[in-house]
Amino acid sequence: MKDCCTQTHENKIAIDGRLLQYLILKSGIKNLKEFELWVEGKAQIQPLATPQTQPIQKAKTTKVELKPNPNLGEEGATKEELNYRQLLILYLKPVLDSTKKIIIKDDTTLQQKHVEINKLIENFIANVQRVVQTTITTRYNEGYARMEGYVKKAKYKLPTKPKEQPRLDTILMQQLMNVEDIGLVLRGKLRQILNIKAVHDFYEQTKQGKADPEKVKKQATPKANWTVCMKRIAREHPEWTEPEIRKWCEVFQYDEEIDKAVDDSKRRVDALGMFGYLESGKAGYLQAAVILALGITELTMKIPWVTMGDANVCPDCLDREAEGPYYPEDYPEDQHYGERCYPGEPVFFKGTLEEVWEYA
Ligand SMILES: [Zn+2]
Repeated sequence: MKDCCTQTHENKIAIDGRLLQYLILKSGIKNLKEFELWVEGKAQIQPLATPQTQPIQKAKTTKVELKPNPNLGEEGATKEELNYRQLLILYLKPVLDSTKKIIIKDDTTLQQKHVEINKLIENFIANVQRVVQTTITTRYNEGYARMEGYVKKAKYKLPTKPKEQPRLDTILMQQLMNVEDIGLVLRGKLRQILNIKAVHDFYEQTKQGKADPEKVKKQATPKANWTVCMKRIAREHPEWTEPEIRKWCEVFQYDEEIDKAVDDSKRRVDALGMFGYLESGKAGYLQAAVILALGITELTMKIPWVTMGDANVCPDCLDREAEGPYYPEDYPEDQHYGERCYPGEPVFFKGTLEEVWEYA
């Protein structure tokens, strides 16, 4: 009484909202009319059955939303980019769903559980790497072809595209290694959750099979030998019974930790997807410009820096836009993470270098 309720001067008591909800639930009152009749002594209200029949609610949740963040980077992610990132993120779903099942399996050894987790992560890495490899290569080649198209339109004869594209290889290496790293970090977290649960399970096993029927029905009273989790949950849910609290700590605690681990990986996959998607198209376009400008003696071109053009564009990017256009080899790198500025349509010059300089 002292902890939850305060007596007011009107002889009414103010109680915690959750406790009120709990009392209504347990009392079996169906509606206000029935309650009024009960107060007048004209009706009976049957309290509901034992608390064990009540479903256990999760105290709080880190909800994993396997969706790309539309606000990642500057504004203006295209639908294609978001679809791509969504596709990558969805490969986390089997990891999330299966791990939750694996961890509470009774008929599987810890070693076998680790084998299953390893397999899930291997598949995740392989699948994401496959999609990344294809998409990054395609976008690089599309960027390259777009620049070739402009040069061709300006009536220059195109040199053959070199088979070796080290700029593409570099992006691929960055992306594929990063995917592997995301997978392995996630595996490390899941291994830790699995192992810690196994270590804790040894404390729990001694208590099993000795259920005291008196204890089962009553509200739980924390004991010294309770786990930290059980003590915490008992504080958050004073109305729960000991078996309910134990059950939560056995199952949902790990559920929540798995959610957190996967959610973290999701944010990394999303960020990796955005960077790779933007950089690959830009790199192919600029690399073609460098190669064509070198390969065609009479070709001189400059490429403008184009910002998203809205109020969110930062001063650095506005400066780069104002300082352009640039020779392909002078085109500046990204000014910050999440940038969506892009190299625009090239400007071609036929004439002396002086004239070009004048333009600049
Ligand atoms: Zn910027």
